[in-house]
Amino acid sequence: MDLGLTAEQQQFQDLAREWVDREVVPHATEWDRAEQVDTKIVGKLAELGFLGLGIDEEWGGSGGDFLTYCLMMEELGRGDTSVRGIVSVSLGLVSKSIQKYGTEEQKSRWLPALCGGEMLGCFGLTEPGTGSDAGSLITRAVRDGDDWVLSGEKIFITNGTWAGVALIFARTGGPGPKGITAFLVPTDKSGFVRNEIKGKLGLRGQATASISLDEVRVGDEARLGAEGEGFTIAMTALDKGRIAVAAGSVGLARGCLEASIAYAKDRSQFGKPIAGYQLVQEMIADMAVETDAARLLVWRAADLVDRGLPFRTEASMAKLFATESAVKAANQAIQIFGGYGYVDEFPVGKAMRDARVTTLYEGTSQIQKLLIGRALTGISAF
Ligand code: FAD
Repeated sequence: MDLGLTAEQQQFQDLAREWVDREVVPHATEWDRAEQVDTKIVGKLAELGFLGLGIDEEWGGSGGDFLTYCLMMEELGRGDTSVRGIVSVSLGLVSKSIQKYGTEEQKSRWLPALCGGEMLGCFGLTEPGTGSDAGSLITRAVRDGDDWVLSGEKIFITNGTWAGVALIFARTGGPGPKGITAFLVPTDKSGFVRNEIKGKLGLRGQATASISLDEVRVGDEARLGAEGEGFTIAMTALDKGRIAVAAGSVGLARGCLEASIAYAKDRSQFGKPIAGYQLVQEMIADMAVETDAARLLVWRAADLVDRGLPFRTEASMAKLFATESAVKAANQAIQIFGGYGYVDEFPVGKAMRDARVTTLYEGTSQIQKLLIGRALTGISAF
């Protein structure tokens, strides 16, 4: 068994690490306070090929395997979960769905612009009344001649106010998951209204929006995949998306661990560095072990993806463990920083606020447990 990275993956990791240290880490607190990242970061991410990782070169992507994508997620997550989320939604959920399910026309229309950072994508699944139970969504798409007319409400949509294209899931058939179809909706369409949700606990640098679709008219060429295939498209995107969230959480936890070690060695109380006290070392050891264990779960799931093997349950395991570990790591980091951890001059308070959402989106921790439980017992407890 080889748990090492290839020379190419190692080289990519070094590049991502150095770039995040230079372009993201120094600005993360300022973006958090301003409730907006500097949008120039999108162009910079694209320049490096980060917005096209895993997308074929013929569509403007930069290729690369899924483990490399997870390495990028870990580094971006270490720098700023808001930036990580911008990429994991636009690239991981939208571009990759277009690559997998899109027609040649859809790929050539959207992928070069998304990979090139000319626009971002957003993923519109959640609605005010349907979060975990996304298969019951009520946004409708009704046939009108050759067109579709979409009406409904979406909420908590990452990149919602910035995106040029929205992957919208709407009901075209009867109740349940089989009645859902996916559409690629240009966000400048008449009737497409988005409002930024302000005052979030974390992920404050990232634009999260509510979207109203008021009789938005699109042609049939906007339909992604077959009629009734929408829920499969959403779940396929989220299966891999969960590994990406897990990888980003490993990065967040690693950031907390590194900051805690540095601080504990520097901060003296009772005449010696607090790093020399066993109770502080216990917290550092716990953080290190859980972060490594989470990374191994991420790498196992990513390896299954790269080998074309089933990975759904392993993705849920990685997401559940890595996100819960990240919350714990951030909390322990605040403990190690003492009162200084409670003010935003140091990064660990922001890490705690950012980590908290990872156990909620792309399937809450409870939903991951139900998915794992169903896979192991064969009985659905939903
Ligand atoms: P609910 O589903 O109402 O759940 C509430 C609680 O009940 C949770 O603890 C849950 O685990 C529990 N629960 C629900 N059902 C069960 C059950 N069967 N058994 C046990 N417990 C259960 N959505 C998108 O479509 N696109 C995005 O880009 C996106 N970005 C987001 C960004 C942010 C910052 C946030 C906060 C959310 C985002 N979401 C997005 C939405 C997110 O995926 C949902 O919030 C999530 O799926 C949970 O849905 P809910 O909030 O409606 O909670």
